[in-house]
Amino acid sequence: TKEDVKSYLFRNAFVLLTVTAVIVGTILGFTLRPYRMSYREVKYFSFPGELLMRMLQMLVLPLIISSLVTGMAALDSKASGKMGMRAVVYYMTTTIIAVVIGIIIVIIIHPGKGTKENMHREGKIVRVTAADAFLDLIRYVLASPSFGFKTNYEKRSFKVPIQANETLVGAVINNVSEAMETLTRITEELVPVPGSVNGVNALGLVVFSMCFGFVIGNMKEQGQALREFFDSLNEAIMRLVAVIMWYAPVGILFLIAGKIVEMEDMGVIGGQLAMYTVTVIVGLFIHAVIVLPLLYFLVTRKNPWVFIGGLLQALITALGTSSSSATLPITFKCLEENNGVDKRVTRFVLPVGATINMDGTALYEALAAIFIAQVNNFELNFGQIITISITATAASIGAAGIPQAGLVTMVIVLTSVGLPTDDITLIIAVDWFLDRLRTTTNVLGDSLGAGIVEHLSRHELKNRDVEMGNSVIEE
Ligand code: ASP
Repeated sequence: TKEDVKSYLFRNAFVLLTVTAVIVGTILGFTLRPYRMSYREVKYFSFPGELLMRMLQMLVLPLIISSLVTGMAALDSKASGKMGMRAVVYYMTTTIIAVVIGIIIVIIIHPGKGTKENMHREGKIVRVTAADAFLDLIRYVLASPSFGFKTNYEKRSFKVPIQANETLVGAVINNVSEAMETLTRITEELVPVPGSVNGVNALGLVVFSMCFGFVIGNMKEQGQALREFFDSLNEAIMRLVAVIMWYAPVGILFLIAGKIVEMEDMGVIGGQLAMYTVTVIVGLFIHAVIVLPLLYFLVTRKNPWVFIGGLLQALITALGTSSSSATLPITFKCLEENNGVDKRVTRFVLPVGATINMDGTALYEALAAIFIAQVNNFELNFGQIITISITATAASIGAAGIPQAGLVTMVIVLTSVGLPTDDITLIIAVDWFLDRLRTTTNVLGDSLGAGIVEHLSRHELKNRDVEMGNSVIEE
């Protein structure tokens, strides 16, 4: 009908505007680069982009809580259990595939050529048994829900003190407002301040909201008021997202232009680093453009490109912000409105996915670690490659959805096989760019996952509709 055509055009005008923003931002950035703006000038220039970041961050916290609570409350425990299982299986499978792709690609292309000067660093070769690898994994997973990390860009050294004891209990929060505060802090400090310490406890909040929603879901009439409260809170936030989406193209334009203006000179990127960049791009491309769409097709028998087309706005926002948690509001919007994914699925699956499922990061961490081994002429045995895949998976689960978080958690991967952590500085120059690509891959993985979980859970969703008289959530 005419209305359909109109809304189709409307939606595509949106995507067109966003794509234009990326192109104009890139051109503007390169045009202004030769003028060598001062730090202060760059800050002023990037202001409209900073504004977008802040607006998105503002919504992340209430969005995670309200969507998880309503998502859980809208399902019965059997349905949520099954759906949760499916999501976890999908997350693990795709993350492991991503890691394997990263490892194969970096071994085939072999971007790092060890030079005589840095042959065989003093670092001792660590023999790793399967038991060691397993212990590393446990230790890391315990540590991942909340760990303080310290970055020091000036001195170019990274330190990650892992507080496993504090962390085991970190998944269970004792103070909701404190947990919110930490989450606000992470989303506020999207760009790591030199020497700052961030305490990350997104997982604690995810767990709490899920438990809360689960209880409300089982409360029948008594829970009605709370169900309605969180439902309408969620609705209100999504309306704010709709407004922010109009501003997004402007913000993205300046985020990209600002970054290009301030990035380090391309001249410093040597041959090996250029090869490394290409290798990462090839790996992410294979995962995002071939593997994930194929998986979606095999499971749902639907055209993945139509689905991905509906996600463009989210993918470009991920590219512009390099933060999957800042992109979360837009991801919700795209999935629910463009792709018509059931809200009970998006609300339940997306916040968890954005916190733990990071295919791009996992691929990147394994690839980067092996690149550093190559640069050092460090022969990795099979056990060490297995260790890298396990720790890269864990490190991606532990990384927060903020810019360059993956670079910081990579310390765990390097340490696990005795590689020099200082060598992270070798790849820092290109990380701002690769971070954008892996963030986009992360968001794509979460979104296709929501589509797949919805497809697999269609019977439970239908049963629940019948049972509830479809009164809880109006589609
Ligand atoms: N920036 C990525 C994200 O937000 C995480 C990473 O650094 O790999 O998804």
